[in-house]
Amino acid sequence: MMINSIYTHKEIFLRELISNASDAIDKLYFKSLTDNAVKLARDDFKIEIDLDKESRTITLTDNGIGMSAEELENNLGTIAKSGSLNFKNENADSEKADDISVIGQFGVGFYSSFMVADRVEVVSKAFGEDTAHKWISTGADGYTIEECEKDDAGTVITLHIKEDTENEDYSQYLEQYRIDELVKKYSDYIRYPIVMEMSHQVPDPEKEGEYITELSVETLNSMVPIWRKSKSELKPEDYNEFYKNKFMDYNDPLAVIHTKTEGQATFDALMFIPENPPYDFYSKEYEKGLQLYSNGVLIMDKCADLLPDYFSFVKGLVDSADLSLNISREMLQHDHQLKIIAKAIDKKIKSELTKMLKNDREKYEKFFKTFGLQLKYGVYANYGMEKDGLKDLLLFESSNGGYTTLKEYVDRMADSQESIYYACGENAERIALLPQIDAVKEKGYEILYFTDEVDEFAIQMLMEYEGKHFANICKDDLDLSTEAEKEAMTKKNEDAKDLLEKMKNILDGKVTAVKLSNKLGSHPVSLTAEGYVSLEMEKVLNSMPGANQGVKAQLVLEINSDHPVAEKLAAADDESLEKYTKLLYSSARLIAGLDLDNPTEFSDTIADLM
Ligand code: ADP
Repeated sequence: MMINSIYTHKEIFLRELISNASDAIDKLYFKSLTDNAVKLARDDFKIEIDLDKESRTITLTDNGIGMSAEELENNLGTIAKSGSLNFKNENADSEKADDISVIGQFGVGFYSSFMVADRVEVVSKAFGEDTAHKWISTGADGYTIEECEKDDAGTVITLHIKEDTENEDYSQYLEQYRIDELVKKYSDYIRYPIVMEMSHQVPDPEKEGEYITELSVETLNSMVPIWRKSKSELKPEDYNEFYKNKFMDYNDPLAVIHTKTEGQATFDALMFIPENPPYDFYSKEYEKGLQLYSNGVLIMDKCADLLPDYFSFVKGLVDSADLSLNISREMLQHDHQLKIIAKAIDKKIKSELTKMLKNDREKYEKFFKTFGLQLKYGVYANYGMEKDGLKDLLLFESSNGGYTTLKEYVDRMADSQESIYYACGENAERIALLPQIDAVKEKGYEILYFTDEVDEFAIQMLMEYEGKHFANICKDDLDLSTEAEKEAMTKKNEDAKDLLEKMKNILDGKVTAVKLSNKLGSHPVSLTAEGYVSLEMEKVLNSMPGANQGVKAQLVLEINSDHPVAEKLAAADDESLEKYTKLLYSSARLIAGLDLDNPTEFSDTIADLM
């Protein structure tokens, strides 16, 4: 049941077995480079397929590293009773692709043979061992292992193909044309020859008009890795199939980057931007990196040095002849060639993304919604070292609706507009409701909506874009008024000095000032921040693990001088003034998305007034 539910396409069993065989050969070939005991040369390695219609069997033979009894037991034996089966049972009614890819990680690859076979025999001899072993299983009922005869290291897997049923044609897997087709479809790039004896009908040279059967052993796969092929040879489906098989995704990638580079470093790279984050992307276990091949031979599965953190979501591989095969991992880190490749790859991904942004906005926005956060962190990380390469890839929501780049924003700016305005909040809807928004919009200025915690930090790193500085509309120093308006405000604040001082004292150190303001449109009150730390930054910094709550934005309580509430304050007696001040301060905190120190007091005071 597990196997059938995992794979809808039974035919992939062949691909799974072939990749295992290829991996096993890789291991022995790798060993042969340093171990003289391996008598095989590169050209001796192969995978053989035999079909037998009489006995309804497919046999796959490889001369790879093989398995010992213990390995047979651990690698093939455990899954039927292992955690991954339990896992599937617990999730029996969920068909989420996530669960499935988790299971993929446990290596059900081999077990997929039970989708088409009711009995599987594995004869294997591990390299360097004297005895061979035979593992037999019918899937559900466990397995047996016994000693047997086999001359050389390697593995022979025999599948006893199920009888056909009303709905399933299993016999197709005994047909040479079908197997040929499947090998070409899924395993064409396997580096070792996959050979099979093929029969062809050819004209009989003796008798005119009659045919005879000719047998010949043929290599079914082209053995050219897909990334070595030229782009013109490849169809989107080829890339998509390759990606899904190799990187265990159930969706096609959002973008494919295939590049051949010559020059300072010569390499082929095939990279993919997934549509969704890999299932473990946000866990500590996630490892970024590209597979590294040297001339078609895998030397490292996840070479982290090839990808900057801000592109950690990229999957793919790099194949270069410039890297020596027996290079050790530590050496690799310092490899000059590798650094050049990494740099070229970084550049390539950036240029692909730039192209996507320009030519396929919808796709780019989809990409950015999924992975944009990484790019923002990239701007912020390492003291902004990478900011220039990334700033034009950023998107922000804005008061114009939809997403905008910084460039588009600046291009739209009115001549009179000096700064790039932004406001922070949980989401665009909340930000649009901030009291400061209306006044800025009335001036005809667009506002960027910062909804990610990192946004404001990233912007601080950027400092400016095309000479325009960034201004938080919720900062105290924002001033869009004319000289005359400014003067009038200064005067009003002068006149109300005693009142404002009293209010500040009532708030007892919670704010650095209380001011009258003309920036609030029709809204009565707002909190703004003075100095470097904004309200959002205070929230973020204090929410970090290990924060000592020490970071405080310096708050200014702004009262709308044109709002009736201003008159009310001026006329209030001391007792009412205290209540009003606390109420206004608390409501301003709520608007800013901050907690109240004492929600009960807030509620009591409102009830009192009512
Ligand atoms: P996966 O290949 O994803 O690890 P499988 O269930 O397909 O999961 O295989 C489990 C393990 O069995 C492999 O990782 C490998 O160690 C071993 N194995 C499978 N097939 C072979 C083979 N033909 N030769 C040597 N080892 C093999």
